[in-house]
Amino acid sequence: MKHRIITIDGPAGSGKSTVAREVARRLGFTYLDTGALYRAAALAVISSGVDARDGVACASVIDKAEISLHEDKVYLDGRDVSSDIRSPGVAEAASAIAVHADVRKRLTALQRELADRESIVAEGRDTGSVVFPGADLKIFLDADIAERARRRHAEFARKGMDADPSEVFESMRRRDEQDGSRRHSPLRVPENAFVVDTTHLTQEEVVVKILSMVRQALAD
Ligand code: C5P
Repeated sequence: MKHRIITIDGPAGSGKSTVAREVARRLGFTYLDTGALYRAAALAVISSGVDARDGVACASVIDKAEISLHEDKVYLDGRDVSSDIRSPGVAEAASAIAVHADVRKRLTALQRELADRESIVAEGRDTGSVVFPGADLKIFLDADIAERARRRHAEFARKGMDADPSEVFESMRRRDEQDGSRRHSPLRVPENAFVVDTTHLTQEEVVVKILSMVRQALAD
């Protein structure tokens, strides 16, 4: 059977991860969290001590690292780093290394390898525009930055992490700016993507909307 690819891109806090995971579950597809790959790569760079601004050095560290995803868990060199990668520091480091073409090349290859084996719902920043331009369906989720920062703060609180709301907002703003203005694969609405603004929608409403788009796309 032909493997299917659904991509869901958008800025931090747009609801991509939760929605993509749930859409994948209901379709029986594999959920591909590409941000987790960037975060695990950032963790490898942090541990190595190399400068995140040095693209060649970062790519060389990532080349040697073994990054894998298995049942919602992320592994770096065989160690489960699923919790470690969720800190704001790692998020910013991920955004910093993600500007380098060499880094993106390595992680794009890894994403395509993973998608070769099964039908997937891929979630990230450039999955529809660069990694899987021929996807069966491309979605771009967006929401007001204030709402996205509120969601991210609530997520930290649920995990028992004590974060200052204004710092969460500021960190999100910096990442938006960095992800949207970088030279390689800036965050953009992919060609032929459906844009869904989630600011005033519940998670379930977004999931239902996307599932109906998937049904339509796969029937065509
Ligand atoms: O989605 P998440 O917040 O986990 O991603 C962390 C960072 O990784 C993003 O801010 C972005 O800079 C980078 N990223 C990317 N391309 C992707 C996924 C994530 O550049 N496909």
